[in-house]
Amino acid sequence: MKSLLVATLIAGLALLAPVPASASAQVSVFACEPEWASLAEEIGGEMVETFAATNARQDPHYIRARPSLVAKMRKADLVVCSGGGLEAGWLPQLFQKAGNAKAQPGGNGYLMAADVVPVLEKSAALDRSMGDVHPEGNPHVHLNPHNILLVAKELSSRLKALDPANTAYYQKRYEEFSRHWQQAIGRWENQAAGLKGKGIITHHKAWSYLINWLGLNLVNTLEPKPGIPPSTRHLEDLLQQVRKVPVLAIVRTPYAPGEASEWLSEKSGVPAVVLPYTVGGEAGITDLFLLFERTLGRLRETADAQR
Ligand SMILES: [Zn+2]
Repeated sequence: MKSLLVATLIAGLALLAPVPASASAQVSVFACEPEWASLAEEIGGEMVETFAATNARQDPHYIRARPSLVAKMRKADLVVCSGGGLEAGWLPQLFQKAGNAKAQPGGNGYLMAADVVPVLEKSAALDRSMGDVHPEGNPHVHLNPHNILLVAKELSSRLKALDPANTAYYQKRYEEFSRHWQQAIGRWENQAAGLKGKGIITHHKAWSYLINWLGLNLVNTLEPKPGIPPSTRHLEDLLQQVRKVPVLAIVRTPYAPGEASEWLSEKSGVPAVVLPYTVGGEAGITDLFLLFERTLGRLRETADAQR
């Protein structure tokens, strides 16, 4: 009797869930970065097979277009990347070597996040100085959760276009994700209200979207220009600046070299903080929700410790 009841319940639940047209994955997704692989899984569920070309310990600016990536790119139905020049050093080579006709610029199989969100620091890069790795503005767009929502919407459209038989499935998953994500944004914005106006120094301009979203104040960066390593002279100048302006933390990604942050932290007493940056950036950060939870939690702990 009990097992019959359970079986009935399961059957009932199955009716509520949209039934995929086919049980096996329909769309092969090549994501340049872990955040987009994670988002593709949120929206595509079991209908997508996802591959991430980089992990959280790799700087997405500098990846080698190695043969294993070419092979993955060749099979992709949908390529999802940050775009905006972040992958300029390797993605064009992958496209060229893979010769994949399905995922080409301009088609449904090519989605660059920077094309569907407002890009920051465009004017700052107008001088296109030598060595600046952000010549098209800041490409680290995923750290504003409102941008994640914009990309999620576009991603769901692309999945529907590439796999029309599962349109209802993708729409349902997109609506569910969107609802949960918007609730989370509300929660995060409440939690982070006390951080508004706090000074932040970052190693690379990898955090501008987070800073902009939370109303933090980017005091300076350890890199004199995006992609240019910190010089002794620049660090000395920063030390003078930090002595005059209150700074909450010196923030870097898990893949950034730590020497400059630690030096400035030691000299100034401002804590050097490694934030996870993307999915997998710390043990236990297995999805985008946890990425933002942990990031905000860490910043709040840092602020509380300074009270
Ligand atoms: Zn960058």
